[in-house]
Amino acid sequence: MRRYGLQGVGLGMLGLCLILALGPGEEPEVREAAGSALVEVESGPPPLVALTFDDGPREVTTRRLLEGLELREVNATFFLVGSRIQGCEALIQDMAAAGNQVGVHTYDHVMVTDLSRRDFDLQVGKTRALLIDLLGEGEYWLRPPYGIVDQSVERWADGPLILWSVDPEDWKDSDTDRIVAAVLEHVKDGDIILMHDIYQSSVDAALRIVDALLERGYLFATVEQLMDLRGVEPEQGILYTAFPPVER
Ligand SMILES: [Zn+2]
Repeated sequence: MRRYGLQGVGLGMLGLCLILALGPGEEPEVREAAGSALVEVESGPPPLVALTFDDGPREVTTRRLLEGLELREVNATFFLVGSRIQGCEALIQDMAAAGNQVGVHTYDHVMVTDLSRRDFDLQVGKTRALLIDLLGEGEYWLRPPYGIVDQSVERWADGPLILWSVDPEDWKDSDTDRIVAAVLEHVKDGDIILMHDIYQSSVDAALRIVDALLERGYLFATVEQLMDLRGVEPEQGILYTAFPPVER
């Protein structure tokens, strides 16, 4: 079961201001909020992003991330490595039960363009089968390791291929400040942010990024929700990197 409700508006914010989403072209206005404080109402719907995490799960770091996301009422998308599933079953069930989207990042974290059809099915199909056993029927979209695909992969993917538009290269060092700044500098409405939940520093950075973006008025969605909210129909074998708002 996946929840489709938007999350991410911290309760604390509600006491301070009243945010009303207005349609395109509508003027911002000032309204009287409860308690008679005058507040400015922002125009347009809030910006949306999808946080995505690859290469996990890893019990300690992923668990801490899930707890931090839950505390902030934010959902993310996790592309799991099949060989790491065993021993983390409860963690993955909690991940999905909290409303996060789960996808596939191959069984052994391999470059999918190097594979025969048979090996592709072992890497992707076997991981999907494990997730179906654990979480029930679902599509479990593929994020190809290194973001590299070819025409065979596009044919065999059996679903959309999810890439990203913001990459802070969080695996390169454990400099949380640098990772946070790299995301906050580049992020915009509709982006898919790539991070890795197997590093403590990435988890720290991700939670700081969530706090900073909530403060900027952003909301968080899973990739599937973001796609749905932007009116994009997922297509087999198509690469997706971001879902910017549609120009009207
Ligand atoms: Zn990876």
